[in-house]
Amino acid sequence: LALYRAKNDGRGRYALFDPELHEKMQRRRALEIDLRRALAFRQFVLVYQPQVDLVRNRVTGFEALIRWHHPERGVVSPLEFIPLAEEIGLITQIGEWVLRTACKDAAGWPDDLSVSVNVSPVQFRGGNLGDIVVSALGGAGLPAHRLELEITESALLNYTDEVLATLKSVKALGVQVSMDDFGTGYSSLSYLQKFPFDKIKIDQSFIRGADSRLECQAVLRAVAGLGMSLGMKTIAEGVETEEQLERVRAEGCTSVQGYFTGRPIAEIDIDAFLSSWNRQKEAGNE
Ligand code: C2E
Ligand code: MG
Ligand code: MG
Ligand code: MG
Repeated sequence: LALYRAKNDGRGRYALFDPELHEKMQRRRALEIDLRRALAFRQFVLVYQPQVDLVRNRVTGFEALIRWHHPERGVVSPLEFIPLAEEIGLITQIGEWVLRTACKDAAGWPDDLSVSVNVSPVQFRGGNLGDIVVSALGGAGLPAHRLELEITESALLNYTDEVLATLKSVKALGVQVSMDDFGTGYSSLSYLQKFPFDKIKIDQSFIRGADSRLECQAVLRAVAGLGMSLGMKTIAEGVETEEQLERVRAEGCTSVQGYFTGRPIAEIDIDAFLSSWNRQKEAGNE
């Protein structure tokens, strides 16, 4: 790429070196080395974001979101290191740690709350995700129906047979399965038919977009309607304002997850969050 650019940018043949690209690759290489040690050094933590049922105005569970506390760089976003972990094959181990930790944490919550765990398509390869799920549930003493796996739409593009078989075996245990970021991939209706999803998570770009764009409002309405007719729950992601909350409610979404109802929090703060939620709810009912 550097060579190609140098030849074509007209600034001379000697510019074989793209400093921006070089810096990017160096950061990547450094991150890769650190990432390989991060599990052993216990640098990962999970934070939890509440999911709220719009009908009963109740917290139904939390999504586990990974954070990497890098000793020098501070908190590194999963948007940066998850793709890298997938590429170098580390996601299998990291994903297993996430599953086990999330199940253990959730086992200490009130038993009407579930935990949602993001699963990378790479974790479906090799075919032992089912065993890891069984072991994580057993090790934590968490009933299967309190665990939910989130799979992004793009994960379904490849490995289709393997993904389908694993999803079915996991569902047979009683684990819930949801399609994450719906609308950002091919949004193929055949996926919804072929795969046994319990929930559709509508990508946050549509929720934000619906503030001003009719197309986004139309997508929101169509997906909520689709969920209703297929008997699937629909969660609106990234709800940040009361206006958005009322819009997704009016369109028929069954739940919300977003900064408006709660940002991701540390495990230790969950009890306090739930108490304050219930206090406010009681105050609202009076
Ligand atoms: P996701 O699964 O779609 O998770 C939702 C993301 O949206 C989270 O970003 C969350 O913090 C953010 N979010 C929630 N509500 C709002 C809101 O109201 N406004 C805005 N602007 N953002 C909101 P986060 O934690 O940075 O995670 C990004 C992505 O990284 C996740 O998207 C997921 O795909 C991936 N990820 C996170 N944890 C894991 C993990 O343990 N394993 C795997 N494989 N992927 C993970
Ligand atoms: Mg997710
Ligand atoms: Mg999402
Ligand atoms: Mg996402």
